[in-house]
Amino acid sequence: MTMTTKTQIASHRGGALVWPENSPTAFRNTAALPVEQVEFDVHPTRDGRLAVIHDATLDRTTDGTGPVAARTWDELQRLTLKGTDGERIMDLAAVVGLFAGTAITLRLELKPDHERRPYPELPAMVAAVLRAEGALERTVVTSFQVETLAALRRAATPKGTIWIVSNYVMTDVGLAGVIDVARRHGVPAVSIHHTMLDPGVAAAVRAAGLGVGGFAAHEDDIIRKMFALGVDVFTTDRPDRAVALRAALG
Ligand code: MG
Repeated sequence: MTMTTKTQIASHRGGALVWPENSPTAFRNTAALPVEQVEFDVHPTRDGRLAVIHDATLDRTTDGTGPVAARTWDELQRLTLKGTDGERIMDLAAVVGLFAGTAITLRLELKPDHERRPYPELPAMVAAVLRAEGALERTVVTSFQVETLAALRRAATPKGTIWIVSNYVMTDVGLAGVIDVARRHGVPAVSIHHTMLDPGVAAAVRAAGLGVGGFAAHEDDIIRKMFALGVDVFTTDRPDRAVALRAALG
């Protein structure tokens, strides 16, 4: 007997445990995988460009230092990404272009600044670039910050929006509260950390009319759990393993 799944795979930061995260190498390799989504993170530069990088600061993943938003795009282009052969930070339009010939949905995370404050201008900037690139209908926008998602939805109508619910929010607000907040902000789906997902939680979210996904499924047993739960989609730093495990399900 085989078990089929409709659960989709999102290559998190382009497969951060396989390739240097949010790098051209990661995105090119993800584009060659049978995954449904590629996840990446966006911060604004000082001069109004959109840099694809996870942290609000440059230190961990580049040879630069300090906040991304304190630098101009030209300054960022003089930096190299750690673990690569001299690759540079990409901007949003370049990532859109790299996946243009694929069926892979872009999963764009709107990040806050280095003090975890939302960038007021970021939702409108992202909306403008996605519109200019003709990419709204193939982009799902995510954020841990639900007001940021609401702002994005006022500026544009992407393929979808997903509120990533932190473990603190799940614990402190509770599942009923999370569902209520998502509905009141017009967000149609939530993503929940794998440690807080079980069949009851998934069923309750679905019963409320919301989509349910999982995040941070990097190990085989956790990836298998995502398929067993039948979540809509999950993010993983090991898209190669997720693809193999899904194929094994038949
Ligand atoms: Mg992210």
